[in-house]
Amino acid sequence: MKIDKDLCIGCGNCLIYCPVDAILEEDGVIDIDFNECVECGNCLRMSNCPTDAIYSQAMDYPRVIRAVMSDPYVVAPNTGIPGRGTAEIKTNDVTGRFKRGWIGMAVELGRPITGVWLSDVEKAAMAISKHGIDFEKINPVTAMMQDAKVGKFKDELLKEKVLSAILEFAVEPEKIPALLNTLEEVQEEVNCVFSVDIASRCNPDLSVPHEEIIAKTGHWISLNAKTNLGLGKPLVKED
Ligand code: SF4
Ligand code: SF4
Repeated sequence: MKIDKDLCIGCGNCLIYCPVDAILEEDGVIDIDFNECVECGNCLRMSNCPTDAIYSQAMDYPRVIRAVMSDPYVVAPNTGIPGRGTAEIKTNDVTGRFKRGWIGMAVELGRPITGVWLSDVEKAAMAISKHGIDFEKINPVTAMMQDAKVGKFKDELLKEKVLSAILEFAVEPEKIPALLNTLEEVQEEVNCVFSVDIASRCNPDLSVPHEEIIAKTGHWISLNAKTNLGLGKPLVKED
């Protein structure tokens, strides 16, 4: 995103709408830090700029990845899903991404204020891939990988910044403790916040398979964890 300096009157309307603080004011001059801008489109849509000074410049690959991952109105080409380009593991009761007996995991990197560089997403992906996982194919982050077996991203994407990115995969339950250890180690190496989502299919007695596993690792599950009742129309049949 850019600001036409000849049109901008420095009213400051746009300043509060940037989720990553990429719009800067210096001596009354407002400008966008092009390197930090994640192309979310918020400033253009929300500022009500009195002179129409904010404009979206032409966006070629690889910069367009920023918009794909950050602008809720842009659809990810490989998944057909807008926003962050994935339905995530929480829709598993409909999509059947992982079966009973498996655990669905997602690592959500970046968020408002920090955003995330794709080089940091690669660090996390390469670290967890050592545990022998298959990254979810219907996910735009997986499509950014040159070699999904080792979590290696395409080189030209590493200098791109996005609002957030989600690594998704299904794993055998016994791998969870080691994966959480690895994520604790990698948090020292990445310059962003991240959260870890864990999902499993309830047992017939309504117990949750991953609760005991997580408790044994000494971690805790957020109080706002969700339980899907499975009322959607499943797209797959359970084996
Ligand atoms: S809203 Fe428009 S005129 Fe006001 S500071 Fe932002 S770009 Fe400049
Ligand atoms: S497009 Fe988004 S990230 Fe870029 S300057 Fe505007 S609000 Fe900030």
